[in-house]
Amino acid sequence: MDMNFGMAEKNRDLLGRVAAMIRDDVMPMEAEYHAEIGKGDRWQYTDRQAEILEGLKAKAKAAGLWNFWLTDSEKGFGLTTVEYAYFAEEMGKTPLGAEVFNCSAPDTGNMEVFERYGTSAMKEQWLARLLEGEIRSAYLMTEPEVASSDATNIAMSCVRQGNDYVLNGEKYWASGAGDPRCKVYIVMVRTGDDAAAKHKRHSMIVVDAATPGIEILRPMKVFGHDDAPHGHMHIRFSDVRVPAENMLLGEGRGFEIAQGRLGPGRIHHCMRSVGQAEAALELLCRRSLQKEAFGKPLVQLGANFDIIAEARMEIEQARLLCLKAAWMMDQGDARAAAPWISQIKVVAPRMALKVIDEAMQMHGGQGISQDTPLAMAWTWQRALRFADGPDAVHRRQVARAELRKHTQEKI
Ligand SMILES: Cc1cc2nc3c(=O)[nH]c(=O)nc-3n(C[C@H](O)[C@H](O)[C@H](O)COP(=O)(O)OP(=O)(O)OC[C@H]3O[C@@H](n4cnc5c(N)ncnc54)[C@H](O)[C@@H]3O)c2cc1C
Repeated sequence: MDMNFGMAEKNRDLLGRVAAMIRDDVMPMEAEYHAEIGKGDRWQYTDRQAEILEGLKAKAKAAGLWNFWLTDSEKGFGLTTVEYAYFAEEMGKTPLGAEVFNCSAPDTGNMEVFERYGTSAMKEQWLARLLEGEIRSAYLMTEPEVASSDATNIAMSCVRQGNDYVLNGEKYWASGAGDPRCKVYIVMVRTGDDAAAKHKRHSMIVVDAATPGIEILRPMKVFGHDDAPHGHMHIRFSDVRVPAENMLLGEGRGFEIAQGRLGPGRIHHCMRSVGQAEAALELLCRRSLQKEAFGKPLVQLGANFDIIAEARMEIEQARLLCLKAAWMMDQGDARAAAPWISQIKVVAPRMALKVIDEAMQMHGGQGISQDTPLAMAWTWQRALRFADGPDAVHRRQVARAELRKHTQEKI
């Protein structure tokens, strides 16, 4: 089968414009943007922070550089997943990149859910505003009381009472739920009892973040960082009443939706990981050429040539695997693409962690300080080995796909 990892002529210029805007407009604002966090209330945007972010968004939107993630859709640019990989890689080079072009997680996954499974009322109330970048959203699946990598464990109760569902329980690691602009949650809940088939016991329901009974308990910290004002929140639901029409697709269809939601989201993270590794290697190389020790540029010392070469080779391997997984998605068979997505979901963060680690080392102490974006990038890549499924779960998928070639037995 012909495998095409290329890009249509018409999209090359578009990609060049995105790359230029990231280099010339977004990256230069990064340090000032992050320095604003914590001036006053950490969970609100300072005027300057909002000005920077909204200014960049407005500039991207005015230039028509917006919502690239709408792959294979008439509404967007009609990019294939393979083509989108190159855009996501560019956006991954800076923490602000994805949001500036309205391509950030978890919104893109949530928007896909609204687009595919939402009612016209949901599209009007939530999707339209998300597409415009006016509000943000969160995806609430993981729970503190259960091993959530096995989503059949999800236990939040959701009971029909008249025209409402009533939700009780706790969720944590709800990324983005700390953001004052986060107005809506998509929540995985348990609706079926043990009599129902294992993958028909769960549902997804849309919850207005302002519904009474929702209480944000705390931000989860990653290595001591709260990631304000985005945040990964621990949230309690106490008798939260949600209109019955907010149920997506119908009771028991949560896994059907999760399958559609998580595939693209996972691969988008991996594409951005490749971009982060590229950005880190660039910093590594520059630093190794600029600074001298023992009478030589750092690059001439020890095994530094090898470190650079290894990083380049590992990035290229991961990028090719990412493109292959993207190409598999473009073939339209989600089941066949799934083990490829799992492969890159393990490989990309692991590769990025290694490259970023070497880049930090080349910078000396500054490498793990606030003076470079490397520590933040490493922290996020480490977290990504859990988010959207830990490595072990993805390795299991890869192994099962492999074994299915050799046995008909259920494994
Ligand atoms: C920064 C960050 C952001 C996140 N954002 C979100 C979000 O927005 N929404 C959301 O719902 N969740 C989010 N998560 C949660 C994330 O998806 C979960 O942490 C992940 O799914 C694992 O679930 P768990 O933490 O309950 O770990 P567990 O399920 O308890 O798993 C713990 C460990 O058990 C082992 N294990 C599990 N299964 C297997 C297996 N099959 N084979 C071998 N070993 C296994 C692995 O070592 C695994 O790491 C986020 C997490 C982080 C760190």
